[in-house]
Amino acid sequence: MRSLVWFRGKDLRVADHGPLVEAVAAGEVIPLFVLDPYFFAPERARALAPRMQVLLEALEDLEQAIARLGSRLVLVTGRSVDVVPQWAARWKVDQVLAHRWSEPFGRDRDERIGQALGSQGIPFHLFEGETLLPPGSLHSASGNPFSVFTAFARAFQREGEVSAPLPRPRHLPPLPAEVAGEGLPLPKLLDLGIARNPSIQQGGETSATKRLQEFVFSGLSSYRQARDRMDREGTSRLSMDLHFGTLSVRTLWRRVSEQAADDHSRVFRNELLWREFAHHWLWERPELLSQPFRASFQGFPWRADEKLWQAWTEGRTGYPVVDAAARQLLGEGFVHNRARMVAASFLAKHLLLDFRRGEAHYLAHLADADWANNDLGWQWSAGCGCDAQPWFRIFNPMLQGERFDPDGDYVRRWVPELASLPARWIHKPHLAPAGVLNAAGVEPYPQPIVDHAEARNRFLQTAKAHLQR
Ligand SMILES: Cc1cc2nc3c(=O)[nH]c(=O)nc-3n(C[C@H](O)[C@H](O)[C@H](O)COP(=O)(O)OP(=O)(O)OC[C@H]3O[C@@H](n4cnc5c(N)ncnc54)[C@H](O)[C@@H]3O)c2cc1C
Repeated sequence: MRSLVWFRGKDLRVADHGPLVEAVAAGEVIPLFVLDPYFFAPERARALAPRMQVLLEALEDLEQAIARLGSRLVLVTGRSVDVVPQWAARWKVDQVLAHRWSEPFGRDRDERIGQALGSQGIPFHLFEGETLLPPGSLHSASGNPFSVFTAFARAFQREGEVSAPLPRPRHLPPLPAEVAGEGLPLPKLLDLGIARNPSIQQGGETSATKRLQEFVFSGLSSYRQARDRMDREGTSRLSMDLHFGTLSVRTLWRRVSEQAADDHSRVFRNELLWREFAHHWLWERPELLSQPFRASFQGFPWRADEKLWQAWTEGRTGYPVVDAAARQLLGEGFVHNRARMVAASFLAKHLLLDFRRGEAHYLAHLADADWANNDLGWQWSAGCGCDAQPWFRIFNPMLQGERFDPDGDYVRRWVPELASLPARWIHKPHLAPAGVLNAAGVEPYPQPIVDHAEARNRFLQTAKAHLQR
């Protein structure tokens, strides 16, 4: 039996890899990755630079892992829908094995590839692995998908059984002779016109495994309190590994559960359930990547104001936490979760700008950009998502800063103009007395682009008028 194992960008590992395990048990294995122009055309790649950097590093690491096991990752170019069936036929494979994607465009691609392979008599087997349970497998007693996280999480605790991760193969059979000369070299980041950003975490299964060990041995034991602090490294920083599948979520769940059964472990696993929920949610309602979860938000009168948009993206709103988030995003392709919530809420509620624009900006600049998680986060923050959080609760960016960055170190790091300002004023520099500003030698920093109280009222009035139509 000859199997084509198609690695797809969200499963870039050799551990806990269902298609690889099954292929090895069946006989000959051809590990394949497609350099699809959808991502790898230079203009597309440049628009997703942080993710491309991580993707290429993860692929390089995968190439090395597969080589150590005795085989080679074969790289081909072209649209997956065309080239997977073409190569499968040319190499006379008996089956194609891959992990399923949950995004609507991935499902569409699966279907088209399945049909093309089917017409050639080649079975296409899709494996679970992106989530702890297959998306769409949990429903309420009435058979409907859950629209509130707490109910989903309760059902998961009740019914969800997370299976054990699969062992990594000890070795792979060498490539069949007629495939041995095929394949392209992995492109370099510079070939795609992208300069490497050293502040972005290193991609790949090797680094992910190290991050996992580090978190389990040192971060997990303080996670519950530390996770909300923007000034601390209190979270796992594993989001990009989960997105690219350089770490399987099942492995992470198992490792954390085995390490501790305390509150920290429980709170951390609850965060993994948010990820789970986001993927189930998108599976049930694929239209949500372009539409609000709450239909009442359809046609919301978002404003179009380029000056406000520029200020938000460049970190010049005059609200230090919002600005730190914008600059962290551009600096290291990551933003602390609390800062994401404050910045996203500020864009939608204080500035009344369309949250989908912010969502696209995050997709372009985050190294951990993930369609399901990002969409859930943005819809939640804009007030139109699937949460019990009411739309009329509006974050005060100054109070959020004082609470979750009490000494101002997060702001000091990303907004260095304010570095010398005492903690008392660092989240509201526009209110600091001139004497304090002069004594601290604060560099020019913008005045708030909107007044917090006025912006809050404007959103409430606008939303009320819209929702009462
Ligand atoms: C506006 C907005 C946009 C977001 N965009 C993304 C995104 O593109 N990709 C992404 O992975 N996460 C996104 N999140 C969720 C969350 O901010 C990140 O997962 C988290 O900050 C990643 O850091 P970490 O791995 O250290 O998290 P940890 O606190 O260590 O959490 C562990 C894991 O749980 C999952 N998780 C944690 N919080 C959430 C959440 N609220 N929703 C879904 N999964 C969660 C992630 O996979 C994360 O890696 C977004 C949140 C908001 C508010």
